[in-house]
Amino acid sequence: MSRIIGIDLGTTNSCVAALDDRGTPRVLAAEDGSRTIPSWVSWTPNGAVVVGAPAQRQAVSNPANTVFGVKRLIGRKVNAEDVTWFARLAPFRIVAATNGDAWVRIGEPSTPTSPQEVAAHVLRRLRAVAENALGEPVTRAVVTVPAYFDEMQRQATRHAGTIAGLDIVRILNEPTAAALAYGAHRVGQGRRLIAVFDLGGGTFDISIMAVENGIFEVLATGGDSALGGEDWDRRILEMLMDEIFDKHRIDLTANVVAMSRLREAAESAKRMLSTSSETTIALPFLCNDNNGAPLNFTRTLTRREVEAKSAELLERLQAPCKRALADTGLTAADIEEVLLVGGMTRWPAVQTLVESIFGKKPSKGANPDEVVALGAAAYAGILSGDADDAALLDVTPRDIGIKVGESQFVTIIPRNSMLPVRARRLFATTSQDQKFVAIELYQGEDEDVGGNRRLGRVVLGDLPPGPAGSVRVELILTIDVESILEVTARELKSGKEASVTIRPTGGLSQDEIFEIVARRRQESSMVGKLPAHDDSSVRNVSASEIPLSDGVPPKREPK
Ligand code: AMP
Repeated sequence: MSRIIGIDLGTTNSCVAALDDRGTPRVLAAEDGSRTIPSWVSWTPNGAVVVGAPAQRQAVSNPANTVFGVKRLIGRKVNAEDVTWFARLAPFRIVAATNGDAWVRIGEPSTPTSPQEVAAHVLRRLRAVAENALGEPVTRAVVTVPAYFDEMQRQATRHAGTIAGLDIVRILNEPTAAALAYGAHRVGQGRRLIAVFDLGGGTFDISIMAVENGIFEVLATGGDSALGGEDWDRRILEMLMDEIFDKHRIDLTANVVAMSRLREAAESAKRMLSTSSETTIALPFLCNDNNGAPLNFTRTLTRREVEAKSAELLERLQAPCKRALADTGLTAADIEEVLLVGGMTRWPAVQTLVESIFGKKPSKGANPDEVVALGAAAYAGILSGDADDAALLDVTPRDIGIKVGESQFVTIIPRNSMLPVRARRLFATTSQDQKFVAIELYQGEDEDVGGNRRLGRVVLGDLPPGPAGSVRVELILTIDVESILEVTARELKSGKEASVTIRPTGGLSQDEIFEIVARRRQESSMVGKLPAHDDSSVRNVSASEIPLSDGVPPKREPK
């Protein structure tokens, strides 16, 4: 069996790590020494596909064919709110696949391409980095995702792995990986409560965890999947665009080359300003003015200005922290340690805010850009039996429930339930001699099912005749550690039952995945092979029972 690598497939940057010969997780660096790889993929005019920093460099000359932030699209519908705003800003085209999924349209001739295929290019690059650094073939990986990812996004990420020739043996929540990397389980005695504050390029996750006797337990997760360092960049970008418009009457929105340059300058200015109070942005020949003369853009930017423009973003970090604490019934004073994860936590105002929320200075021992990959490698070691024996309990990221009446959503398994989990509900027929019940399953937190993601349905027919309310059906939902949902509806008197297993589709069919893999095989850039099926990732688990419900929906918190 080959070694299992750990991959942080980030919105902005990705990182790969593995255990060294002494069982310590290490970042695997690329040939040029870089320890993280920009999650950028570019289709060049001569038909090549480049990944990482070379792709990022294409942003200026080839912006329409250079894709970044694909993690925002993977497993998402094109009409989702945050996909729509991303589509407005992105210099490449985001289009609807036939099933409504968000895809990108790139290449010459331009072709609709799934985010899974784009992400597979990044994974394939990381796999090559790992194979080069380790000097051996790599076919298996643990890949991390934000805690907020729903099942479809997780499944789509698995599909990206398959396309890249990697068997993703486990999808791990990023904050859980980070806590492992910080070695939070090795510090002190007894039960310790920690918060993992992860602000990366595209997502914000907060997790409240308990660590005891080497066991990690995620007590609550929360966050905002549409908030990250890129939002700070966007605030700076908008400020600069507005100024250029006010001063020169030039609207840069349609000038993709100038926009790419301005966005890049905004991001590097922000990095500079995390350690200095001011910096200079200089962009010669940014565009032509209205008389056709070149416009050379130069401006001094201060940290204070950026803080003023981004105050609302900082504010948005507070509520998810308070909500996650409230979910656990804890107060900030109960949290012993706060771990910082994600490049954007280097921003001084973010650190000050974290300190004010939790009433203590956050730990910064590890490099925030690398801890997630290091934790994924540590977990890979646990799975393959090469590392210490820390157990890991994960939680459901979203409420899982059913449609009742016209469109009401009733939660059956609340978000943050520990996996594996089983829940039961009793229902009664609503009409005389009702022939069947059709139970529609959804995932989300909206009280109207229309705002949630539909997972599937189970139909139980041939119900015995009787007045309304006389026939009772028990619904049993089980989610295993692989997040596979098993749904059974059983008529109590006869014991007749119907079941469905919901493996989230991730947007691509098996045929489409194999078609992409076959196509890639033919391309000269193809390096990966489809891994052999590995049963080690499929486990039989005994589900923990939760008491039989009386059918009353659990109380919903106000949104
Ligand atoms: P990550 O997703 O962890 O790679 O974080 C990427 C985000 O962190 C991007 O928005 C970067 O601009 C931001 N970032 C990285 N380094 C710094 C820094 N020194 N100061 C402020 N933001 C940073």
